[in-house]
Amino acid sequence: MNYTVDKKGFYGEFGGAFIPEMLHHNVEELKSCYLDIIESDEFKKEFKQLLKDYVGRPTPLYFAKRLSEKYGANIYLKREDLNHTGAHKVNNTVGQILLAKKMGKTRIIAETGAGQHGVATATVCALMNMPCIVYMGEIDIQRQAPNVARMQMLGAEVKAAISGSKTLKDATNEAIRDWIANPEDTYYLIGSVVGPHPYPDMVARFQSIISEEMQYQLEEQTGKNYPDKVIACVGGGSNAAGAFYHFLDNEKVELIAVEADGLGINTGKTAATTQIGSEGIIHGSKTYLMQNSEGQITEPHSISAGLDYPGIGPLHAHLFKSKRGTFLGATDQEALNAAFELTKLEGIIPALESAHAMAALNKIKLKNDECVVVNLSGRGDKDMETYMRVMNNGK
Ligand SMILES: *Cc1c(COP(=O)(O)O)cnc(C)c1O
Repeated sequence: MNYTVDKKGFYGEFGGAFIPEMLHHNVEELKSCYLDIIESDEFKKEFKQLLKDYVGRPTPLYFAKRLSEKYGANIYLKREDLNHTGAHKVNNTVGQILLAKKMGKTRIIAETGAGQHGVATATVCALMNMPCIVYMGEIDIQRQAPNVARMQMLGAEVKAAISGSKTLKDATNEAIRDWIANPEDTYYLIGSVVGPHPYPDMVARFQSIISEEMQYQLEEQTGKNYPDKVIACVGGGSNAAGAFYHFLDNEKVELIAVEADGLGINTGKTAATTQIGSEGIIHGSKTYLMQNSEGQITEPHSISAGLDYPGIGPLHAHLFKSKRGTFLGATDQEALNAAFELTKLEGIIPALESAHAMAALNKIKLKNDECVVVNLSGRGDKDMETYMRVMNNGK
């Protein structure tokens, strides 16, 4: 079984580039040059330098002693929460902005749901002095005022998507429309391992720094350069793809992906794509998605904005169908419990997304000397309002 992308852009039967003809030129241009550029020595040098000095890598691999005692296994946390801007997303935006510059592009567009990817994009656009337009659903703009302010302070223009449900998928439609209208100068910066080929492969390569570092950090700390289990949450799937990447072909490593069950998978308020979704096409790629009987995308729900996405990337669809990956879910409440537990035991306030990965520790069988890495994708500052609500309810 092969878990990397094939020449046609597929992971098994998933992936590809199912796009309108008017996007064909843009996607072809990217496909024809991305590997040559990002595999070049010059690119690698600049990318690594920025990851080190700007993002703050390598992020620590932290042995969580009290958590390990509680769960009876050796639990390590990969501290992506310590990156500049507070999550793993910046690994990818740094990579893509460098690529855009090398392609001669002068204008960056992106879409964002909760605003996290918009902030990571606006950040690197400020760094590289590139104009940045971020499309965002009108409802999300109202819900996510602090992130809108951050993007504006960073110099980005936030444009409201006012059609449909006025959320992420409508913002995506606007970004695609913009790209079709501006094929020469504009680069479309996608925030997860989703979209038409080559985006899923490209984003996975940029995020693979996570498991690249894990290998030598594990070697140093345990004498073995791979863990028994890696756990990561899955929205679109980029932090999980990065945490799994260098272990995909090592069957000794169990890959555990955690989706957001929301209020529960049978409540209609969930984002558990593999549980209630079916095969179809979303964002230009064949994968699993949440859709109604007419093939229209249904609104997801999760307490964590970053997991509130109605699909998963094609790599994850392949890991799910081939059973290489173990797919679990955590409800809003289970994620909250895990967030408070991690804070109390280790003094680390996680992002609500990452708390879903932590919640999986309660759902798997652990053996005594087993080595488990949980990818802590982001920090909890952005979620304090939710945590405060919980504390005020006397929990
Ligand atoms: C956006 C986000 C996620 C979900 O995105 P993936 O592409 O699935 O990684 C997870 N954690 C944090 C902290 C995020 O900001």
